[in-house]
Amino acid sequence: MRVAIVGAGVSGLAAAFRLKQLGEEVVVFEKSGGLGGRVNSRKHKLGYTFDVGATSITPRGKTIDRVMLGNLPTEELVKVEKPIWTHSGLRTAPGSASKNTTARYNYRHGIQTFANLLGEGTDVRLKTDVLQIKRNGEIYDLAGEQFDAVILTPPIPQTCQLLWSLGESRPVANVSYRSCVSVMLGYQTAVETPYHALIDIEQVHPLTWLSVESAKSPDRAPQGGSAFVAQLGARFSQQNYAQPDEFFIDATLSFMKSLYGSAFATPEVAMVKKWKYSQPESLARFENVNVPGAKLLVASDGLMGGHIEDAFECGWRAAEMLA
Ligand SMILES: Cc1cc2nc3c(=O)[nH]c(=O)nc-3n(C[C@H](O)[C@H](O)[C@H](O)COP(=O)(O)OP(=O)(O)OC[C@H]3O[C@@H](n4cnc5c(N)ncnc54)[C@H](O)[C@@H]3O)c2cc1C
Repeated sequence: MRVAIVGAGVSGLAAAFRLKQLGEEVVVFEKSGGLGGRVNSRKHKLGYTFDVGATSITPRGKTIDRVMLGNLPTEELVKVEKPIWTHSGLRTAPGSASKNTTARYNYRHGIQTFANLLGEGTDVRLKTDVLQIKRNGEIYDLAGEQFDAVILTPPIPQTCQLLWSLGESRPVANVSYRSCVSVMLGYQTAVETPYHALIDIEQVHPLTWLSVESAKSPDRAPQGGSAFVAQLGARFSQQNYAQPDEFFIDATLSFMKSLYGSAFATPEVAMVKKWKYSQPESLARFENVNVPGAKLLVASDGLMGGHIEDAFECGWRAAEMLA
C-alpha cells in the first residue's frame, strides 16, 4: 500500500514511522521547510536555541515512551531535572509535588531533534503545501502523485479544508483551538533559578508560562548567558493577536524586569512567534472520525489531546488502523 501523509508534525511522523515498520510505502508532504510542526526549535546566530512551541516531552507511559527511549538514538536526549514552579504575577512558589514527579524530556540542541530523529529516512517532501485532494475510484491524487490511502494530520480547521476539497466531512465541528503568542528572549546575563519553568495556573496573568530554556537543557545560551521563552495566555494572545511584535516583547520585558531585575530589561535577542492553532480546547473522538476500513484517515491532536504524546498516539493508531 502506498500512503500519503499530509503534515510532518509529530502525528504525521509517528504515522509514517509505524507504517514503515509495518512494511508500507509512505510519502509525507509538509508545507514548511522542516520537520516537527509545533515541535519547533528556533536557533539564533548569537548562540541561543529556543523551543518556541511545545516545551518538553512527557511520555506518561504511552507509545512515545517506548519509541523515544527504545528505538531512537538517545545521545542528545536530556531529562529535565528542575521542577515547574507557579507564579501569580510576581509571587513565585513551588508547584505541585505530584505533578513534578512526571518525567520530562528534551534534547540538548532543541526539542525539534525529536522530530528530526523520528523522521530520519522517511520520504518527506518539504515546502509542499497540499491544497486539494482528488479521488479517482480507489486512488487518491495528491500533489501530482497517486496513493492508495491518505492520513491528514494538520490542526483540525486546516484538515477540514482538505476534506472539503474532496467533498467529505467528519464529525469534528466541536473542535476548537486556542491561540498563543510566544516571545523568545536571549540575555548576556546568566540567571540561577530553582525551577525550569513558571506557570500561572489560574491563567489570569497575560504571561501564562515562562520557560528558562537555559535551565531546561544545556547549550541553549552562550557561556554566561541565559535564554527564555514566554508563552502569553490564550485570552491575551487572542485579543491582541494583530498587534505588532514590539507589543508582545514589551509586555514580556516588564515582567522579566520585575522578576529578575533591571539587567533583564534589555535582551540581546527578542523574537516573536504567533501560533494561531496552539493547542485544542475541545476534542472530537478518534473512533467517531475514523471508521475501520476507511482509506482516508484523520490523525491530529484535535482527536486525542493537545500534547506531543497524544499527537504521537493518534498518528500511531491511524497507521495501525490503515495497515
Ligand atoms: C506554544 C505551544 C506550547 C505547547 N506546549 C506543549 C507542551 O509543553 N507539551 C506538549 O506535550 N505539547 C505542547 N504543545 C502541543 C503540541 O506541540 C502539539 O499537540 C503537537 O505537536 C501537535 O502535533 P501534530 O503533528 O498533531 O500537529 P502539528 O505539529 O501542527 O503538525 C501539522 C503539520 O502539518 C503541516 N501542514 C498543515 N497544513 C498543511 C498542508 N495543507 N500541506 C502540507 N503540510 C501542512 C504543518 O506545517 C505542520 O508541520 C504546545 C503547542 C504550542 C503551539
